[in-house]
Amino acid sequence: MDDDELRQRVRHLLRRRQLPRQTQARTWGGPGLGKLCSVCGKKIDGRDQEYELQFVLRGDVVTHRFHARCHAMWELERSRP
Ligand SMILES: [Zn+2]
Repeated sequence: MDDDELRQRVRHLLRRRQLPRQTQARTWGGPGLGKLCSVCGKKIDGRDQEYELQFVLRGDVVTHRFHARCHAMWELERSRP
């Protein structure tokens, strides 16, 4: 997935509220544990850096995991009007 495709995917997920725009309550980083990325849907394996973000959305705790690159794109796009 190139940067443009990744950007379109993030925007799509933000519009559909499948990704939050708000700032996370907590962040963890570390080597991937094989879980799926909330942006690209692919596994985050041990060679990749994993970002695990916890949000409190309407009183519920929601966790999203991202590749480093997918996380950076989410950070960039979530604050755009
Ligand atoms: Zn990803």
